Amino acid sequence: MNSVQISVEKNAEQTKAEKKLPTAYSRTNPFQAKVLENINLNGAGSSKETRHIELSLTDSGLSYVPGDCLGIIPENDPELVAVIMKEMEWDSEEAVTINKQGETLPLKEALTKHFEITLLTKKVLQQAAELTDNAELKTLVLPENVDQLKEYVDGRDLLDMLRDFGPWKGSAQEIVSLLRKMPPRLYSIASSFSTNPDEVHLTIGAVRYTTHGRERKGVCSVLCAERLHEGDTLPVFIQPNKHFKLPESGETDIIMVGPGTGIAPFRSFIQERAVNGAEGRSWLFFGDQHSATDFLYQNELESYQKDGVLTNLDAAFSRDTEQKVYVQHKMQENSKELFEWLEKGAYFYVCGDKQYMAKDVHNTLIDIIEKEGAMSREAAEEYLNAMQKQKRYQRDVY
Ligand SMILES: Cc1cc2nc3c(=O)[nH]c(=O)nc-3n(C[C@H](O)[C@H](O)[C@H](O)COP(=O)(O)OP(=O)(O)OC[C@H]3O[C@@H](n4cnc5c(N)ncnc54)[C@H](O)[C@@H]3O)c2cc1C
Repeated sequence: MNSVQISVEKNAEQTKAEKKLPTAYSRTNPFQAKVLENINLNGAGSSKETRHIELSLTDSGLSYVPGDCLGIIPENDPELVAVIMKEMEWDSEEAVTINKQGETLPLKEALTKHFEITLLTKKVLQQAAELTDNAELKTLVLPENVDQLKEYVDGRDLLDMLRDFGPWKGSAQEIVSLLRKMPPRLYSIASSFSTNPDEVHLTIGAVRYTTHGRERKGVCSVLCAERLHEGDTLPVFIQPNKHFKLPESGETDIIMVGPGTGIAPFRSFIQERAVNGAEGRSWLFFGDQHSATDFLYQNELESYQKDGVLTNLDAAFSRDTEQKVYVQHKMQENSKELFEWLEKGAYFYVCGDKQYMAKDVHNTLIDIIEKEGAMSREAAEEYLNAMQKQKRYQRDVY
């Protein structure tokens, strides 16, 4: 027990103001935040589902600054748990040990709340091979078959393994002991604490796809999309992010590139700059598939633009025209002005997709510096490196 927790227990009578000081809540002791609002930001007909979720932090003592993340400790899909229980003919109420401290939970609850059941690792398969006589699995885990094992693990889950390699001789306890503890999911905070005291807002894209013949649902995002209602609670903690922060001075210009759910921290940045009356200019590049259904927070953003809080707002929609238009194309179109902002000391922020978007934006930024600064490629890269060292190029990508 840490000192903060001890002081909280000793001072049960403390005043409300005192309660706000240090918080006892953390990743290992999450706060049960009440859901105030949970809406779909995408319009009818969109292929996406992006939830705007507002949670209450009242009486938690938790606070945050723009750029921080919220950690959520999710539960597994009860339907998936039920299918596993049925497949294995397990008894829901059987007590299983869930950790080295010897804590126990009824099996169904352990699979719902404690264990990660949607991801396999090579180690899980190697250890599982001891719990079955299935020849195929025993061959798959041989050292010479490591490539095939890696391929099997990719995109498959516990249910796939249980169905593919039975009959199982291991007990429920032996099988769940192979599993890792459910890891929390992080989400960029989409609100400013100063604007929304005791609230935290999130922008969460529902992850749904089909692979290896089954429909799959992202554990946390689909919990938020399908099973989380107003008045419910979610276990949460604040994950500070020192490397994604507004400039110290409100006079500094900022350029934000946040397509899709990448918009989240920039909603927080914009709210914070608005409430502080920051004088620096701000420029947002947003992107998604269709302007009619996927322009997240469109009304808010346009109203910030009207009020001058947002100096420039450029949006790119990839499926509205034959030729796909992405945020990096909008940057290119505005290359001269963008370089002028950089030359005047603007900070440049990127949030969202790591695999493609962040790389395209990075390369486009170098192209722009090279062209507008009339520099060699090497000099342009050096310019961007220098910006990074000065913390003027910050990325929150996932
Ligand atoms: C710092 C940080 C900030 C983040 N901020 C946000 C945010 O603001 N909003 C947001 O929505 N997310 C954000 N994320 C991502 C978020 O943490 C989760 O990873 C995301 O919601 C998916 O979690 P899940 O539990 O729903 O899915 P999981 O159950 O964790 O499943 C996701 C996994 O499914 C697999 N997968 C996904 N799509 C496919 C596909 N088409 N084909 C095959 N496999 C696939 C991938 O292996 C992926 O890792 C952030 C992540 C980080 C690290």
